[in-house]
Amino acid sequence: MSLSDKQIKSILKRYEARRLINKKASKERLDEVIQKIPHVKVINDTITDKSLDISKSIFNSPTDRESLLTTLKNELMALKKKRTELLIANKYTADYLDPIYTCALCKDSGYVGDHKCSCFKQAIIDVAYAQSNLQGILQVENFEHFNFDLYDDEVNKAMGISPRENAKSVYAYCKKFTETFDSTFSNLILYGQAGLGKTYLCNCIAKALLDKSKTVVYVTAFQLFRLLETYRFHNNEQIVTYDEIDDIYTCDLLIIDDLGSEIINQFTTSELFNGLNTRILSKKPTVISTNLEPSGWSVNYSNRIVSRIFGHYTPLKLIGNDIRLKHYN
Ligand SMILES: [Zn+2]
Repeated sequence: MSLSDKQIKSILKRYEARRLINKKASKERLDEVIQKIPHVKVINDTITDKSLDISKSIFNSPTDRESLLTTLKNELMALKKKRTELLIANKYTADYLDPIYTCALCKDSGYVGDHKCSCFKQAIIDVAYAQSNLQGILQVENFEHFNFDLYDDEVNKAMGISPRENAKSVYAYCKKFTETFDSTFSNLILYGQAGLGKTYLCNCIAKALLDKSKTVVYVTAFQLFRLLETYRFHNNEQIVTYDEIDDIYTCDLLIIDDLGSEIINQFTTSELFNGLNTRILSKKPTVISTNLEPSGWSVNYSNRIVSRIFGHYTPLKLIGNDIRLKHYN
């Protein structure tokens, strides 16, 4: 993914801000602990003094370096053990004074060794696909906040199940999809009328996987095809490079929301086939939401897509009345 220098700089600035905030939070914790357990300060000062002493000794007699370092290591271990005991005795967790990181993988540096951390890759994807507001939405729309009460609990005669029970089983399936993401390759297609929580479930899935440090590209079908069209035909005098398209094929999870809302023509159909087929071949999961019923899939898209692609998808149907109206009751 190629972003401008300015965009990259602004991402790196956010990392810097994050480090400062976390450092401040760590310092506040330390102040609080010292207030309550003054001996922790004595231990911390001793750790600093001993480290300095040893550095000096090594400087004075470099040949003793190894044995001096071993002595230091043992002394520091004993001091830290004592500090942990004090923390636990005062009802703190053992790691309460450990440095705080938003991303433990890269310690908020954005890099693990020479490689970009998944959080950095995701930050780039968020900027590139203008999904920076996704994080905000996901704080609200996630598995923890899913509300089954919005679904009717009267049995739907045609389906033999109530919309609420049905939503529970779809929810459970989606949750399991995220839990077994690393061990099982599968794809989902969530369908049903508008307003039954399909986008909400897509968001739940996105949040659960972002929390697992997976890269997630979230696009509406409309956005996706506009992007591909711009890439192929250089429309809108905007240049989209292959790098920018690459994430669609390579991200850990691709979510295409509202399939069927795009303008369907030969171009979109063949792009859809290529994109989804590439992901299947490389065992990269995709989640699709659509208002179209399965009978409409082959009407809108070619039989090739329906038989070759959708055969690899688990269809999950949501039923009931539009739940969006109930939010305001
Ligand atoms: Zn990271």
